[in-house]
Amino acid sequence: MIDYVIVGSGLAGICFAETATQNEKRFVMISDHSQNASLVAAGMYNPLVLKRFTMAWQAGKQLDLAMPFYQRMQERLSVQFNHKLRVARILSSVEEQNNWFVTLDKPAFGRFMSSQLLSNNNTFVKAPHQLGEVKETGRIDTVKMRDSFVKDLIEKQQFISESFDYNALEIKADHIVYKEIKAKNIIFAEGYGLKQNPWFNYLPLVGTKGEYLSIYAPELKEEKALKSACFLIPLGGGYYKVGATYKWQDKTSKTTLEAREELIKKLKKFITVDFEVVDQVAGIRPTVTDRRPLVGRHPDSKLKRLFLLNGFGSRGVLIGPYAAQALITLIEEEEPLDVEMDISRFSAHWPSDQKK
Ligand SMILES: Cc1cc2nc3c(=O)[nH]c(=O)nc-3n(C[C@H](O)[C@H](O)[C@H](O)COP(=O)(O)OP(=O)(O)OC[C@H]3O[C@@H](n4cnc5c(N)ncnc54)[C@H](O)[C@@H]3O)c2cc1C
Repeated sequence: MIDYVIVGSGLAGICFAETATQNEKRFVMISDHSQNASLVAAGMYNPLVLKRFTMAWQAGKQLDLAMPFYQRMQERLSVQFNHKLRVARILSSVEEQNNWFVTLDKPAFGRFMSSQLLSNNNTFVKAPHQLGEVKETGRIDTVKMRDSFVKDLIEKQQFISESFDYNALEIKADHIVYKEIKAKNIIFAEGYGLKQNPWFNYLPLVGTKGEYLSIYAPELKEEKALKSACFLIPLGGGYYKVGATYKWQDKTSKTTLEAREELIKKLKKFITVDFEVVDQVAGIRPTVTDRRPLVGRHPDSKLKRLFLLNGFGSRGVLIGPYAAQALITLIEEEEPLDVEMDISRFSAHWPSDQKK
C-alpha cells in the first residue's frame, strides 16, 4: 500500500508531492489537462498586495518556507526554475509616495519595502513620481517546474495521465482503492476542477478567470517587473508578460478579445514603446469567498481518508509549499491546521442528506 494518491499536477499537487518526497512517502499522481492556472501563471512571488500596500496573508512565513523548498526541489531535479526578479510599483502621485513611507514604517513591512524610492531611467516608461521597490521578490517558471517534475515522476512510474474517475474510488475505513492502486489517503488538488468533485464541491470555490498577453518589445529593455495599471513582467530576450485580468462570470479557459483590448489599453497608460502581441493565455484561479486556502480533511468521519489542497487564489507560488507542509503534518502527525485555511470552517455546508 502506498501513502498517497494525488489528483492534479498544478502548483497544489506538485507542492504536496514534493513535500511527500522530502518526507520519504510513496505516492502516485493522477492528472489531466482540464485546468491550467499554474501553467499560465506568471509565477511571480511578491509578499505585498501592491494595489493597496498591504501584506499578503502570512507572506513572511510563506517566503521563509518557500525559498528553501524550491531550492531543494531544483537541486533534486537538477533544474533551475526560481529566478530573481526585481518588482517595483510605479507611484502615481505625491500622496502615493507618502503612503509608501507610512506603510514602510508599520511593523513587519520594513523587511519587504525599500526605504529609498527609485527614479525612472527608462525613457519608454511613464513614472514621474518614482517607483517603490519590493524586496524578496522573484519568479518561478511554473511550466519548467511542472515539466521537470512530471518527467521525473514518469521515469519513476509514479504518474498517470488521465482524468480522475470519481466513480472508481472505493473508500474504506483505513485506506482507499482507485482501480488497482491501494493508498492510505487521497489528496485532491484539482484547482477549479474541484467543481466536479462529489465530496468537496460543497465548498465555496468561486474561480476567477485571468488572462495574460505576451508581448515582444525589443526596445523597452526593462529588467524589473513593473506594477501600474497592470503588471509588466520581463521574461528575457525582449519578451514580457502583461496582465492579468480578473473576471468572475466566464469560467472557461478560452482567451477573449475583451481581455486583449483591456490589457493593451492599460499597458499604454505607462509604456510608450511599440510592441507586438505574440501570445495570449487564460486560466481560472481557484479563489474562495473568504480569500483563504481550502486545506484539510473531509468533515464526514466516513470520508476521513479524503483530503483537499486548493483555494490558492492568485498566490499559488507562495501559498503552495506552506499549505502542503501544513497538510502533511496534519495527516502524518495530527497537528491541527491554521483555522483560517482549514476547510472545517465550512463544515456546515456539507449537505445534511450526505451526513447520514
Ligand atoms: C492568469 C493568471 C496569472 C497568475 N499569476 C500568478 C502569479 O504570478 N503568482 C502566483 O503565485 N500565482 C499566480 N496565479 C495563481 C496560481 O496560478 C494559482 O493559485 C495556482 O496555479 C493554483 O494551482 P492548483 O494546483 O490549485 O490549480 P491548477 O493549476 O488549475 O491545477 C489543477 C490540476 O488538476 C488537474 N485536474 C483537475 N481536475 C482533474 C480531474 N478530474 N482528473 C485529473 N486531473 C484533474 C488539472 O488538469 C490541473 O493539472 C495566476 C493565475 C492566473 C489564472
